[in-house]
Amino acid sequence: MTVVTRFAPSPTGFLHIGGARTALFNWLYARHHKGKFLLRIEDTDRERSTEAAIEAIFGGMKWLGLDWDEEPIFQFSQRERHVEIANQLLEQGKAYYCYASREELAEMRETARAEGRPPVYDGRWRDRDPSEAPAGVDPVVRFKSPNEGNTIVHDKVQGDVTFANEQLDDMILLRADGTPTYMLSVVVDDYDMGVTDIIRGDDHLTNAARQIQLIEAIGWAVPNHTHIPLIHGPDGAKLSKRHGALGVEAYRDMGYLPEALRNYLLRLGWSHGDDEVISTEQAIEWFNLENIGKSAARFDFAKLENLNGLYIRSANDAYLTGLVAPILAEKTGQDLSPNQLNLIEKAMNGLKERAKSVNSLAESSVFLIAERPLALDKKAKSLITEEASAVLMRLADRLEILDVWNAETVEAAIRAAADAEDIKLGKIAQPLRAALTGTTVSPGIFDVLDVLGREQSVGRIRDVLSE
Ligand code: GLU
Repeated sequence: MTVVTRFAPSPTGFLHIGGARTALFNWLYARHHKGKFLLRIEDTDRERSTEAAIEAIFGGMKWLGLDWDEEPIFQFSQRERHVEIANQLLEQGKAYYCYASREELAEMRETARAEGRPPVYDGRWRDRDPSEAPAGVDPVVRFKSPNEGNTIVHDKVQGDVTFANEQLDDMILLRADGTPTYMLSVVVDDYDMGVTDIIRGDDHLTNAARQIQLIEAIGWAVPNHTHIPLIHGPDGAKLSKRHGALGVEAYRDMGYLPEALRNYLLRLGWSHGDDEVISTEQAIEWFNLENIGKSAARFDFAKLENLNGLYIRSANDAYLTGLVAPILAEKTGQDLSPNQLNLIEKAMNGLKERAKSVNSLAESSVFLIAERPLALDKKAKSLITEEASAVLMRLADRLEILDVWNAETVEAAIRAAADAEDIKLGKIAQPLRAALTGTTVSPGIFDVLDVLGREQSVGRIRDVLSE
């Protein structure tokens, strides 16, 4: 049977990091089995579902490279089908109308609590004759769930989890206004979409038991279940914003590469021996449900940052230039010229060595496209002493007359200058870096000169001398 998985977010907020991991696991499982990965937008909560959230989900998934098969299903648009199944259950005596009023239900829960019982619906309309229905009350439709025995969720991660049926009350399938509930909609949609494997957060484990009861009553095959432990913060507490429970776009804006985040999310709850750096191709080849961890994973920003650095260093220079360009354009207020783009791409090999994020990469590229005369930061300024100025002036003269301009020839010229001045290379390199970049950190100084070219380099040196 072809594996069919689905990701079923509710569009009431952004695609947060936990949801992204669920999507990734579903995607990997489907790709591993050459099956299908479907997307279902659970937009039945009309008040809280927004167009912006739907866009954020699509955008976040695309950015992460999690492509889905077929058109996304919007759950709300399937509501007639959900109602049809509820009616079918009514006809078969597997569901019933419940006329209990709000007050009655509140009182029922109160009494249960007072008596130390779980506040569940007591089934008071389960076997009552509909002729007893009070006039003018719109009933809800409840599922006649089994009262005895157990329901077992055969879970690929949690193992067999047994629920006593008496603990699971007769849930509502259709509200008094006739709209289907989440429980009914999920079951019907999963069936209609041909979902074979449900992979989601373990906060849905109890729902699974209820859904299995419903599926069995309808007479459909129960899909495989995999409930993934939730993500916790580094301190073991539930993931909060402070811990990184942010939307995927926040990670993009912080300068993480999608491939680094994907790798990080994969390792957050799944393992393959001691492997930390796992390419997407390898992930597709290796992914399985057996190696999903049984305990909550802890979110660790430092680890993510580390991976991001690794991915940046091994990324293609043109690709990184493409990511840095819009950030720089925003900083400077204008699009980069082809020359500037070339300059950045040429310098990228040196720049990416130090970068931890795309943002820091952009930050460290600014000097390349800066207009002369450069504004030096405080530290850089302090390096341009009178003595250093004199050395730089003589160096500029040497550089100006070089026959050929490349990393080797400028290095030779600078070494010769240091020898002639009888000072260490660093004594020249530091103020030189300050003059060329306006800061005290940059890629190797010879590379900087090479990339900037003669005119800019000599010009920038002379600019600080004349200040
Ligand atoms: N819409 C549910 C959620 O966002 C997921 C339902 C499911 O995966 O079955 O939590």
